[in-house]
Amino acid sequence: MTVASSDVVILGGGIAGCAAADAFARRGRSVIVIDRAPRLAAGASGNPAGLVMPRLTADDSLAAEFHSRAFSMTVERLRVLEAAVPSDRCGVLQLADTAAAEARFVKMAGTTTLPQGEVALVTPAAATKRAGVPIDRSGLWFPAGLWVDPVVLCRRLAAGARTILAAEAIAIVPDGRGWRVDGGAGPLARGDHLILAHAMDVMRIPIAAIAGLRAVRGQVTRIAATRPSRRLRCIVTAGAYVTPAIEGAHVAGATFDRRPDLTGDIPQGRADRDDGRNLAAVRTLLPPLFGGTVPTVTGGRASLRATTRDHLPVAGPVPDPDALADPGSPRRPGRPDPLAVPGVPGLWLLSGLGSRGLTTALWTAEQVAAAAAGETLRHPAIAAALHPARFVLRDRRSGGAGPLAAAGS
Ligand SMILES: Cc1cc2nc3c(=O)[nH]c(=O)nc-3n(C[C@H](O)[C@H](O)[C@H](O)COP(=O)(O)OP(=O)(O)OC[C@H]3O[C@@H](n4cnc5c(N)ncnc54)[C@H](O)[C@@H]3O)c2cc1C
Repeated sequence: MTVASSDVVILGGGIAGCAAADAFARRGRSVIVIDRAPRLAAGASGNPAGLVMPRLTADDSLAAEFHSRAFSMTVERLRVLEAAVPSDRCGVLQLADTAAAEARFVKMAGTTTLPQGEVALVTPAAATKRAGVPIDRSGLWFPAGLWVDPVVLCRRLAAGARTILAAEAIAIVPDGRGWRVDGGAGPLARGDHLILAHAMDVMRIPIAAIAGLRAVRGQVTRIAATRPSRRLRCIVTAGAYVTPAIEGAHVAGATFDRRPDLTGDIPQGRADRDDGRNLAAVRTLLPPLFGGTVPTVTGGRASLRATTRDHLPVAGPVPDPDALADPGSPRRPGRPDPLAVPGVPGLWLLSGLGSRGLTTALWTAEQVAAAAAGETLRHPAIAAALHPARFVLRDRRSGGAGPLAAAGS
């Protein structure tokens, strides 16, 4: 049997896999994307709309720099794709829900590495003007923040790749200079590089389980727009979020339920209870949104986020298990450097995008594609912060067992 072959095989057709497909295709590489679902964006990336906004922190940490770079790049890319991908640069208003949050916002606005003009502190009066509905709290205004249709975005990013759908990968096998992916009925594809971008299912691959991913279930709810709610002009968030009306309905979300028992293959049925939680959260966020009317739920969607314990993606080479198991490696004094850990040739991780994958996938995929192409790392400190070996090295330093032991490697 002839096995489909390409320079790069990507496991997972969500935003991570599709962004990687785009990043490799732009480098002239042939790409195959494999997904177990019959269509792209069937997992967490399949919501009716997703927010693209930066995550600010009260210090000038690497995490803040990562989020600000990722946001700027994504906004720029979406500007180019605007005609092909439904989106709305309506801006995002992040409201302070406590006095402590207000103080934190002031600090964040002062330390952010976002380009000038991309964030501003707003008073309740200014927030009301932006939102088009009454708001009694101050907050942060992100004029370039937007919502995007993630399904169309995924399809557009993967347009240059060949797709193998309705094909569940059950094993990966070294194959000459590269890797082969096997399904239940035999080999699915082979490539010189294999990118593991299949969210929680990465944890089923023993040498990739060092990613230490944790599942968090989430649900979004579509709420029919009413005459008063149609006045909402921007996205409003304070943990929970609500979009302006999109084709007659607001998208509100999202629930956040840690599920240590779950991997990726459980049914993700929508729960009425969670629609109720989302509705209640919108009422708290924007009490006057629906006037005196009772809002009607018109749909919703549940799926799993793959999260990490430091809230950063896991992206880079899969560390060589032998090198990682050696307690003397890497041998540099002081803080261990993940970039010094040798990788398994041709095998890459791109997962753990958590709650912000639509904002961070493009930048992160670009770093993985650049590293796989042997290009000089432009942001080594961020690459180290996202590196798949980081948890094992940190745990070793603090004397903990860590995910290496959990993975049985
Ligand atoms: C309710 C909810 C709301 C969210 N809202 C936002 C938001 O507003 N903004 C934002 O930035 N982020 C948001 N997120 C987070 C964002 O959706 C995720 O970070 C992102 O979609 C993760 O993308 P992914 O490609 O890593 O995973 P997924 O989109 O889950 O893709 C993984 C793919 O791998 C496939 N797969 C898995 N196992 C296998 C296998 N063995 N063989 C073949 N294929 C396999 C799956 O079918 C799936 O298509 C939200 C998440 C949830 C759950």
